[in-house]
Amino acid sequence: MNLILLGPPGAGKGTQAQKLAAKHGLVQLSTGDMLRAAVSAGTEIGRKADAVMKSGGLVSDEIVIGIISERIEQPDCAKGFILDGFPRTLQQADALGSLLAAKGKALDAVIEFRVDDQILVSRIETRARETLAAGGKVRADDNAEALKTRLMAYYRETSPLIGYYHAYRKLCPIDGMAAIDQVAQEIETVLTGVKNATIATGTKG
Ligand code: ADP
Repeated sequence: MNLILLGPPGAGKGTQAQKLAAKHGLVQLSTGDMLRAAVSAGTEIGRKADAVMKSGGLVSDEIVIGIISERIEQPDCAKGFILDGFPRTLQQADALGSLLAAKGKALDAVIEFRVDDQILVSRIETRARETLAAGGKVRADDNAEALKTRLMAYYRETSPLIGYYHAYRKLCPIDGMAAIDQVAQEIETVLTGVKNATIATGTKG
C-alpha cells in the first residue's frame, strides 16, 4: 500500500504516519525528518536546506525529489510506504507520478487532513511549549514568524494538490480535528474502503 498524507503544518500527519507504519508494516518517509537529518549530519543537501527550512520556506523541488527518488528504490519500500510532507508542490506531484510509473508502482490513496485554520496556529504553539516544558529542543521553524511562512507556503504551493489528487480520484478527506485515536480509526475505515474497491474492480492502484 502506497499512501500520501496531505495537509497543512500541524495537522497531525507525522503522528498518524507513525501509527500507520507500525500497524501495516509500511515505511514512513517524512521529507521534513530526512532534511533535518541532513542538516544535523552537515551534508551538502543539509547545508543547502538549512536556512530556507529555518525561515519556513520550501526547499527546492530538485533536492526533495532527489532524496525521495533514491529512498523509494530501497528494498524496504517494496511492501509500501507513507509519504508525509511530500509532494508539496505540483511539480513534486508530477515528478512522483513519473517516478512511480517508471518503477511499476502506484498510489493507493491520498489522505487529506482537514483542519480549521485557526486551530492550526494554536496547535503548533502548544507543541512548541510542551516540547520546551518536557526539556526537549524546539524545532528551529516552530516560531510565529516561520509558522506564518510555512502556512503561506502550504496555501500557495501545496493546497492545489487537493484538486490535483481529486481529479486523479485518489483523494480521501478525513477530519483532522478529532482525537488522535479517532483520526486513526477514520483512516483505517478509508483504507478498508480503498482495499475493497481495488478487489471489486480487480485493479491495482
Ligand atoms: P511541517 O510539520 O510544518 O509540515 P515538515 O517537518 O514536514 O514540516 O518540514 C519542515 C520543513 O522542511 C519545511 O518547512 C520545508 O522547508 C522543508 N520541506 C519538507 N518537505 C519538503 C518538500 N516536499 N518540499 C520542499 N520543502 C520541504
